[in-house]
This record gives sequence, C-alpha cells and structure tokens, in this order.
Amino acid sequence: MSKRIGVFGGSFDPVHIGHLWIAEAAREHLSLDEVRWIPAATSPLKTNGPIASDEDRLQMVRLAISGNSHFVLDERELRRGEMSYTVDTMTELVAEHPGDNFFLIIGSDSLETFDRWREPKRLLELVTLAVIQRGGDPVVDVSVVDQYVDANEPNQNAVSVVPMPLIQASSTDVRNRLANGKSIRYQVPAAVEAYLHANKIYQR
Ligand code: ATP
Repeated sequence: MSKRIGVFGGSFDPVHIGHLWIAEAAREHLSLDEVRWIPAATSPLKTNGPIASDEDRLQMVRLAISGNSHFVLDERELRRGEMSYTVDTMTELVAEHPGDNFFLIIGSDSLETFDRWREPKRLLELVTLAVIQRGGDPVVDVSVVDQYVDANEPNQNAVSVVPMPLIQASSTDVRNRLANGKSIRYQVPAAVEAYLHANKIYQR
C-alpha cells in the first residue's frame, strides 16, 4: 500500500518547539505515515549559513524527535554537504519510494519565497505543499503557486493549509536568548536545552 510521507527540511539551528508542533500537526491533519526531518547543509535563501555545526544540529534534531515513532531523521542533505535544493532531495526521495505520496511541510514565510526556489514547477509535480501559518504572517497566501500550476489541468493538491494555532517560536529567538543569558526553557525540548548548555552553543 502506498504511504503518505511528510518531508520537513530546515536549518534547525536549533530545532525548537514550533518545529515539533507543526510537524505533528501536519502528520495528524494529513494522516501521514511518517515525517522525515531533513536538516539542510546550507539553505539557498538564508543570508547566513547555520551557526551551530552540522553534527550539533543533527544531534539536537535526533534528541528532539526521539520517542515519536512517526518521526525519522534523514541525514542526506548534510551528507551531500553542498547547497541544499529541495527539488534535488525530493527527486531522490520520490525515486526511492515510487508510488508513495509526498507532502513538503513549510511555514508560510517559506511559501512567500516559493517563486525563488529552484525549479518550483517541477517540485510541485513531486509534492503537495503542506503550509503552516507562521506568527507574524496575517494570512496564508497560496497564490504564489498559481503560476506553476497548469490552468487547464488544475492540480487540486498543490497546497494544503494545515490548521493550528499561531506559534511565534523561532530559532533566531532561541539563539538570541542564549546569547543574552536568558531562559529557553519550554522553547526547546528539555534534552535539547541540556545539550545547548552542556556544549555552550550560541552562548557568548
Ligand atoms: P531562523 O529563525 O534561524 O530563520 P526558523 O525558526 O525559521 O529559523 P528553520 O529551521 O529555518 O527555523 O525552519 C524550518 C521550517 O519550519 C521553515 O519552513 C519555517 O517556515 C518553519 N517554521 C519554523 N518555525 C515556525 C513557526 N513558529 N511557525 C510556522 N512555521 C515555522
């Protein structure tokens, strides 16, 4: 039987409670069999590269998702090491799982930049976008994908908006709080908080 697979990419610098919540909300809303977490080597649209090392980001995701049998860590983008283009990763995954359905989980801030992604039209042939409204974004504007969907053959599955409460959490905020000696308790899982303190990551 074909599976429904969620793919969740990001810098995860570090992983925070918002990431976990949106992955779980997408899993439930879309009846996903699994969510693959794929830390990016370098995200093409981010101005700066990640601050924590690849190994630390991986380990923090590993700690964060342990205990959820639907969550899987996928290290391929870090192993590949170069710029992480989602279309390359999805092409690989679809070839490995013929017949399965893929859902790419993204926040609404990522959707806004969709027209600057590599090969957006081809990407939409491979996945349905599972979009979560991000705190600060007034609405989820899905019209950015219209230009890539054939008007004569409307792809009803191009985007699915996942309902959930707005979460303001961001990795930037967690990093800033650590740099300023502030508490990050409950903003990241306890094991990730302990890892960040033990390894003095993001601290001045
Ligand atoms: P940074 O603050 O460093 O930019 P971030 O918190 O956005 O990081 P990423 O690892 O870049 O974290 O995010 C991965 C994906 O998760 C992106 O698609 C992003 O839009 C989404 N995301 C992150 N936090 C939230 C949130 N609070 N609500 C909705 N989506 C989110």
